[in-house]
Amino acid sequence: MIVGKRAMPLVAMGVLVLVVGLLVACGGERAGVADSLPAVETPVVSVPPTAAAVAVQEKELVPMPTAHAAETGAAPVESPAVARKLVMLDPGHQRHGNNAPEAVGPDTREVKPKVSSGTVGVRTKKPEYVLNLEVSQLVKAELVKRGIEVAMTRESHEVDISNKQRAEMANEAGAALAVRLHADGDSSPKTSGFSVLYPSAASAALKPIAADSRQAAGFIAERLKAATGTGGRGLSERSDLSGFNWSKVPVVLVELGFMTNPEEDERLSEAEYQQKLAIGIADGIERFLNAGSPAR
Ligand SMILES: [Zn+2]
Repeated sequence: MIVGKRAMPLVAMGVLVLVVGLLVACGGERAGVADSLPAVETPVVSVPPTAAAVAVQEKELVPMPTAHAAETGAAPVESPAVARKLVMLDPGHQRHGNNAPEAVGPDTREVKPKVSSGTVGVRTKKPEYVLNLEVSQLVKAELVKRGIEVAMTRESHEVDISNKQRAEMANEAGAALAVRLHADGDSSPKTSGFSVLYPSAASAALKPIAADSRQAAGFIAERLKAATGTGGRGLSERSDLSGFNWSKVPVVLVELGFMTNPEEDERLSEAEYQQKLAIGIADGIERFLNAGSPAR
């Protein structure tokens, strides 16, 4: 993944992304060679029942939903303000990729494949989509334990949901934050570490969600460092991801680590390390939900 910060010109970044995209399998949405699937039209996946239930509950029980809780510092995790907010978790990829083209964003004619099947663990041979769901389930459990409402774009590998559709699911659910979980790949087996991607403020379509997303990414990276005891690769601003460009709610993408690094690939599948990742991500999400919005 690209670690270069905002200093990197977008054009250069785009070229680099393209190059990296040719070298590795995963990285959010670079599909390259996804498994060929018959172009079957799958109905848009509806918001999971939990999310719908929350929406109804909000309408019935909450007189005046406020956008973001006031800055309360160490607010109790079970505070009503937090409990009312929905987090959409999106475990990246699925068993079979779908190479059908899809617009990268609302204001571009560029297209990318709908969704790829992701990378594969160089040592574990575990597909990325399996790892992504494993960790997402742990994050979900951690959030639910804290009284935070969670919906997921998928809880099975047998789905066909494009990156645009995943963004729309979060939009329709009115998520306070969408968190996409992925794992990384690189041509060098030495490259390692988690990173957190967020939408670029330079893109007009992304401007409304950029500041909040950037804040969430910062919190998650910070808490991931604390939870895992590793520095990670920091934050990365992106304007080329369909799953960001179609989003109307704050969104981040966590690259958990590199499945092309043999040691990190193994660690990513260890129960203890997965739990650390889940706690770090949940801590960052919770902090975001408790914080005031920088955009207002
Ligand atoms: Zn991925």
